[in-house]
Amino acid sequence: MNRGTARYPLLEIDLDKLKANLAALIERCQSLSVEVAGVVKGFSALPEAAGVYTECGVRSLASSRLSQLRALRGAGVACERVLIRIPMLSELPEVAEVADMSLQSELETLRALNAVCAKRGTRHRVILMADLGDLREGFWSREELVDAALEVEYKLDHLELAGIGTNLGCYGSVAATPEKLRELVSAAEAVERAIGRELQYISGGASTSVHMVLDGTLPARVNHLRIGEGILVAKDLQVDWGIHDMDYLRMDCMTLRAQIVEVKDKPTHPVGPIMVDCFCSRPTYEDRGIRRRAIAGIGRADVGDIMMLHPRTPGMTVVGGSSDHCILDVEDCDPCPQVGDIVDFDVIYLTMLYASAREDVAVKFVD
Ligand SMILES: *Cc1c(COP(=O)(O)O)cnc(C)c1O
Repeated sequence: MNRGTARYPLLEIDLDKLKANLAALIERCQSLSVEVAGVVKGFSALPEAAGVYTECGVRSLASSRLSQLRALRGAGVACERVLIRIPMLSELPEVAEVADMSLQSELETLRALNAVCAKRGTRHRVILMADLGDLREGFWSREELVDAALEVEYKLDHLELAGIGTNLGCYGSVAATPEKLRELVSAAEAVERAIGRELQYISGGASTSVHMVLDGTLPARVNHLRIGEGILVAKDLQVDWGIHDMDYLRMDCMTLRAQIVEVKDKPTHPVGPIMVDCFCSRPTYEDRGIRRRAIAGIGRADVGDIMMLHPRTPGMTVVGGSSDHCILDVEDCDPCPQVGDIVDFDVIYLTMLYASAREDVAVKFVD
């Protein structure tokens, strides 16, 4: 689905680099018998890129959005489809239709989903989430978790209890550590004792759990991870966590390209009475005198937060912008960019997520 290649802004996705990242992580996970679910919500499940996952042997693809799971099915991507946002009651018929497995944390939802599946005559697999302190989704009480597991196992005939999982490093910024995942294993083993059988999955989180695969500290029974960022952008662990020896993971699978629409010398401090900016906030402006600056035709509507755009051009910085403009300081660039030039930016998870979902941003696959 190349949305035209001479159009900007342009999100360029390098499928070879993506494949190399995937292969590198899968190999390391496989050596510990950890199954990788490929989380594709970061690039809006674009089927060309999703296809790379299945080519690399990833059996299940995951998204928080049913529309994306439906699109994967529509594009004929052969995989198990996993819904990783705990579902709304209003979307359960669609969950039963387009997802093979989902993450769950409410008994009421499980009962309603069972009823929907009963009506359809189908079965659906579930992973019950345990909240270990990050305070997003999941059962907080161990007893409630075990009771829900028992009800799924013995009473909700159209649901199959596939495993227990957790999510860390999101709302509460709680680090995924071997200690935290041992708590998860202990919760899963309590469930196993109650239901009298072994669970297929103990799902130990997202990209922030990958470091334990690499240094061998992942608790042995954790056998499932749901990985998005760590394959696509691969920055969080290498840059934010400062983990070295990961240079086999490319951080440039994606490039966001935008065209320069104005280049002028201008003051760095606004001229006139200062009120609020176009987003109703009151920023402060540092007066650095007159400097050369450029505007690129890309804005918050395309990337969520323009301050999160990182130009690859040495000396270039983002100073601000609006829904549709990105203002760049180019005083220190040599050569200075001209109107019509294309500027390349690194993406982070947020900018990738917005850009890949936006009709106005063209997508080009290269390999
Ligand atoms: C988004 C998401 C993931 C993947 O997170 P990454 O940080 O991109 O690896 C995993 N699990 C759940 C529940 C998610 O919502």
